[in-house]
Amino acid sequence: MTGKAYVVGAGLAGLSAATILAARGAAVTVIEAAGQAGGRCRSYFDAAIGGVIDNGNHLVLSGNRAVHDYLARIGAHDALAGPPRAEFAFVDLRDGLRWTLRPNEGRVPYWITRASRRVPGTKASDYAKYAPLLWADKKTSIGDRIADRGPLWERLMRPFLLAALNTEPEQSSAALAGAVLRETLAKGGRFYRPRIAHPTLAAAFVDPALQLLSGKNASLLMGTRLRGLTFNGRLAMALNTGEATLPVSSGDVVVLAVPPWAAADLIAGLVVPNDFRAIVNAHFKMPAPAGIPPILGVIGGTAEWIFSFHDRISVTVSGADAIVDQDREDLATRIWADVAKALGITAPMPAWQIVKEKRATFAATPAQDARRPAAKTQWRNLFLAGDWTQTGLPATIEGALRSGEVAAALACRHLSL
Ligand SMILES: Cc1cc2nc3c(=O)[nH]c(=O)nc-3n(C[C@H](O)[C@H](O)[C@H](O)COP(=O)(O)OP(=O)(O)OC[C@H]3O[C@@H](n4cnc5c(N)ncnc54)[C@H](O)[C@@H]3O)c2cc1C
Repeated sequence: MTGKAYVVGAGLAGLSAATILAARGAAVTVIEAAGQAGGRCRSYFDAAIGGVIDNGNHLVLSGNRAVHDYLARIGAHDALAGPPRAEFAFVDLRDGLRWTLRPNEGRVPYWITRASRRVPGTKASDYAKYAPLLWADKKTSIGDRIADRGPLWERLMRPFLLAALNTEPEQSSAALAGAVLRETLAKGGRFYRPRIAHPTLAAAFVDPALQLLSGKNASLLMGTRLRGLTFNGRLAMALNTGEATLPVSSGDVVVLAVPPWAAADLIAGLVVPNDFRAIVNAHFKMPAPAGIPPILGVIGGTAEWIFSFHDRISVTVSGADAIVDQDREDLATRIWADVAKALGITAPMPAWQIVKEKRATFAATPAQDARRPAAKTQWRNLFLAGDWTQTGLPATIEGALRSGEVAAALACRHLSL
């Protein structure tokens, strides 16, 4: 008889692993500390907004292979919304300049030869200056590799890299930036059409996965925190949740898909990323005005990306450590001023909510990247997953889902599935 599979943590890494294991016929038990699944990618009813909101706007790109495979696996292929072609609208609040990038679909980027389609104030030759990121080594930062601080940096590359890495781009790993660029911008517009979960993160990424798991008779232990792991030689032998001790036999597997600080508490001596960056999201209860782009990049303000929904306007500020401890009302007022200017709204600030995620992602610096462990551990039946493990990508949905795939593949091999 095949052994059991325990998946600890029902964020996207854990759900990715659990759904693969369940689909392959494993007897899966998911152990999640919170009362709901989704982790850092979750939706909930917010009383101030009077509706379901996401903890933060999550943007994925059409070229995210693991996102595509995961949504297909859980039966949610149509759960992402976005324009039919890659198109990115921007406004610079300082001088009111507005522009829309219109990349072509194919790999040869002829769009950069057209002044009307590229970043204002740039030349086609400016774009080639970023090629060194595509083959950067793991020790260098973007600041070491890229000298450009002109209009292309300020109006496209800095905002794009800050969003992708959630870390001040100058200090961020050139190799992680290169990995993102190789899979998106360098492959042509069809690989970076923006995509947003529709209508919520939970509806796209979480609820269908839980339904799949229920349909496969997986046990979902919500509100259950793993408090200790017992080892014997090269095997994990038991999981302790405080209320119960679950025995783990040598034929069973454990996928530990908790955040890095939780994994380090459970496994003495495990080296994990230990420096984090915040994200602040502001939600405003007002339908976006007609004709507004679904996503608007903002330069020169506190707001960075404005997402328009039928019932609300939501704003993301990445690498937000400088503002995360500020008063919530002050933040809402400041961000609303940017939104009003960017979208031409004269109405007073509507009902709002500020969501602060202090440890949204690990800092994508070369030093932190070097602290990411592999999925395989010294224990034969224990595997790690999470956006902070060695995925080769920054902390993103794509990275989290891929980490779950890798851990599930190792677990399936152990279970002979
Ligand atoms: C505000 C915000 C905006 C973001 N925007 C984007 C974006 O636009 N695009 C993008 O690709 N990515 C984005 N991300 C990153 C993305 O959300 C994460 O990379 C991804 O959700 C991480 O998933 P994970 O499963 O690795 O970790 P987590 O989501 O942290 O999951 C870990 C789970 O383990 C549980 N847990 C912890 N300790 C225990 C324990 N002892 N026992 C049992 N369970 C435990 C937690 O409750 C949690 O559910 C954003 C993140 C935030 C916070």
